[in-house]
Amino acid sequence: MRCPYCGYEDSRVLDSRPVEEGSAIRRRRECPRCERRFTTYERVEVAPLMVVKRDGRREPFDRGKILGGLLKARGKRPIPLEALEALVADVERVVRHRGEAEVRSSLIGELVMERLRSLDEVAYVRFASEYRRFSDADSIVEEVARLRAQKAREELSRRQIPLLPAPENPGNGRY
Ligand SMILES: [Zn+2]
Repeated sequence: MRCPYCGYEDSRVLDSRPVEEGSAIRRRRECPRCERRFTTYERVEVAPLMVVKRDGRREPFDRGKILGGLLKARGKRPIPLEALEALVADVERVVRHRGEAEVRSSLIGELVMERLRSLDEVAYVRFASEYRRFSDADSIVEEVARLRAQKAREELSRRQIPLLPAPENPGNGRY
């Protein structure tokens, strides 16, 4: 560390100790040239994770914002808040684990949807339709159609379908 008094490039560390409940280290230093002493602090740098939006603007990663979107999509669906919080935490873990300073908002959206889908399909469709509103309207229409078809198939296999309607009132003029 450069001496702030004479500008000499190096300094000796006389003493190091943790401060601020261990979140920083305070070092007492001495310049070997002018022999003056000064103090430095070392702190962990929490690199701000920036989200690159579709229009190219950047904003800090905000888990509250993602959670807000999820709560909106949840509506009255029986999904515990903890499950949504865990989902957001998991997505944050994944994007931070990439070790890059920036993440595209579309990747966050995909990660959220992937997880929400296995949690609750209705909330998933709501979130996806909101999320993809401007970018990918066709795929969400397809997705809704796919889910509806799946629901209809499930409904059919659950229900007994009467093959013929009961002849209640044969003379009503329908024929
Ligand atoms: Zn000095």
